[in-house]
Amino acid sequence: MADELHEECGVFGIFGDERAALKSYWGTFSLQHRGQESAGLAVLHNEEITVHKGMGLVTEALKVEEESQRLGLAAMGHVRYSTTGESSIVNAQPLLMKTRFGLLALGQNGNLVNAAGLRQQLEQEGAIFQGTTDSEVLSHLIARSGRQSFYEALKESLAKLQGGFAFTVLTQDALYGARDPQGIRPLALGQTEHGAYVLASESCAFDVIGAHYVREIAPGELITLRHNGIEADRFVNFSMDRALCSFEMIYFARPDSRIEGQSTYIIRRRLGEILAQESPAVADVVIGVPDSSTPAAMGYATAAGIPFDMGLVKNRYVARTFISPNQALREAGVQLKLSVVKEVVDGKRIVLVDDSLVRGTTSRHLIQILRRAGAREVHMRIASPPYTDPCYYGIDTSRATELAARNMNREQIRKTVGADSLAYLSLQGLKTGLSQDGWCMACFGAGYPVPLRDHTDIALDITKGGN
Ligand code: AMP
Ligand code: SF4
Repeated sequence: MADELHEECGVFGIFGDERAALKSYWGTFSLQHRGQESAGLAVLHNEEITVHKGMGLVTEALKVEEESQRLGLAAMGHVRYSTTGESSIVNAQPLLMKTRFGLLALGQNGNLVNAAGLRQQLEQEGAIFQGTTDSEVLSHLIARSGRQSFYEALKESLAKLQGGFAFTVLTQDALYGARDPQGIRPLALGQTEHGAYVLASESCAFDVIGAHYVREIAPGELITLRHNGIEADRFVNFSMDRALCSFEMIYFARPDSRIEGQSTYIIRRRLGEILAQESPAVADVVIGVPDSSTPAAMGYATAAGIPFDMGLVKNRYVARTFISPNQALREAGVQLKLSVVKEVVDGKRIVLVDDSLVRGTTSRHLIQILRRAGAREVHMRIASPPYTDPCYYGIDTSRATELAARNMNREQIRKTVGADSLAYLSLQGLKTGLSQDGWCMACFGAGYPVPLRDHTDIALDITKGGN
């Protein structure tokens, strides 16, 4: 899958609000952490759909003044972070297509495991693809469906997709939201005080426009929002075990979001508490890697009875560095992003809590700078289990060959990152912390919820160790 895109994205949509464009701008802005490569908005006005999109952050790609002037009763927004393959405006979303059913704007979060096969088949049938996103696969499936109505074509096309995905689709008279049959990727429904319905990858997008959280879109559900209200349907007639991405809870989602009705902040705190019970350390201070690990570090500190302090500060103006194209840039990025508050760490025994350890780049660098600032001991604690398997459902972490826990044992990782001790949360600890059943934990070695064996592109990739 060397050329295939893996998307980390955020989707937003609203129907029935005369400030739909501006509200979508703010909603999309609040999902910025889900993707910083490109951003876009599609607005429906007088049965016309227009799309504005560009590269970079929401504030770079779109102009708030323009969006606040734009008329329209429905709109959708998208932020994207593609991590492999080309980074280009062609792949920026929403994607606008004209089909025999009329205009269509699409936004996607997630990744299809059968995209390559579907694309090949569509190309053989004469479809011409502009870019490399999975959303184009859906739009071509819709365009080529033999069904009479758009709705039936959409349902039929969604049913052909496999993987972890959430789609928002804007047509000339409705906004649709769909979530994969196992609910791997999140999609929530909200409502404004004036009654307009809203869809978003995370509930933090509702808060910013004064809407409230109604419920999660169910796995395999297709929601239609129109002038006359909301309709719920299913695009698959079977039900599968739910497998919501546990990594959303561990790292990806914002701490002020609720997913499946659960607060990400509370879950992260709980994971930190369980980690402290499982792997205590004798230390003077607990520090977290800001911002994503702060709740877990606070949980660890509370459970361990060790004070939590702000030993590391983050430069807010450095975007996420995790998936820089090469190791040198990645290391430079980590260096610019985080620095030490010497007064907190000098002469102290430190527990350093991070939410995850993927390649080990962050831990290695942080332990070095903590020691340079006078830390006597650094005990690394990771608030998730060893990350051993690449994700194929939309969270790009890294190639199998680069995953520390896939290639080294605990002691080797400890030495590589330079910690005095290293411990991870156990898989059981993660399950306990997440409380309900029904999570994907495939990257922690718990097995892929959507079988990959039928997809030769991925099966090959696993054996050769790359994505
Ligand atoms: P690494 O430096 O490769 O060990 O990655 C772990 C660090 O990156 C942790 O501090 C995480 O908070 C962060 N992280 C983990 N997964 C991701 C991701 N998919 N995108 C961006 N950052 C991530
Ligand atoms: Fe999330 Fe990991 Fe499953 Fe991917 S493999 S969907 S990152 S839990």
